Amino acid sequence: MMRVRHLTAFIAALTLTACVTTNEVTGRSQFITIPPSQDAALGLEAMNEVKKTTDVETDSPDAKRVQRIGRRIAAISDNPNLPWEFVVIDEDVLNAWALPGGKIAVYQKMVDSFETDEELAAVIGHEIAHAILRHGAEQMSRAQAQNLAIAGVGAAVGATTEDGQMAQMAVTLGALAAQGFVQLPHSRAMELEADDVGTLYMARAGYDPRAAVRLWKKMRAMKEGGGQPAFLSTHPTDDKRIQRLESKMSTYLSEYKAR
Ligand SMILES: [Zn+2]
Repeated sequence: MMRVRHLTAFIAALTLTACVTTNEVTGRSQFITIPPSQDAALGLEAMNEVKKTTDVETDSPDAKRVQRIGRRIAAISDNPNLPWEFVVIDEDVLNAWALPGGKIAVYQKMVDSFETDEELAAVIGHEIAHAILRHGAEQMSRAQAQNLAIAGVGAAVGATTEDGQMAQMAVTLGALAAQGFVQLPHSRAMELEADDVGTLYMARAGYDPRAAVRLWKKMRAMKEGGGQPAFLSTHPTDDKRIQRLESKMSTYLSEYKAR
């Protein structure tokens, strides 16, 4: 019995070590079981699921506007070579999200609510940062780890050491979890990272970073005005995130003016 317990603990430690990586952009350690090489397939699979069930615009004037802003920011990001795709979802919902591999959606109401390119760039920059920082894969890995903890360590070892099995699992997750990626709230750490990196990117792309503060103040006003827009259930806004942005504004502005 002792030997089994020791072995189990040893294998669990090995598995966790193999999955903890240091993010190249932020330096933060992340627990991610999905290899970066799977991000593109996972995101494509999930986006195809979304397209089957929702009204996705790729050619409308608003979609073209989102694509123009998105490509400009992605081009100066830390990963311009992701298979970026920017779409508008024709629903009266204040929301936006990013799938692994750089698949980004902005809902029609969000496009309508933020009429200046700068404010929309703050939304899109934030989502681009989520994709580059692999927050979707991190979230999915956490959910997976919880499931695997229930299923047992044996399953965890099988899933993480067999490359083929892992790849199959990632693709299956993509099909099943399109809604999961979209609806799972990000952690506070992920939100603050996406704000920071996203605002840096928008400034480098030539959009005034002060618009990010305007965006979140408007979001706060909408929240206080009653109702809970969808974006705010996955992107909780509070005074702290606005303070954080304001405290680093001189850094963002120097990137904006330096270009
Ligand atoms: Zn976010």
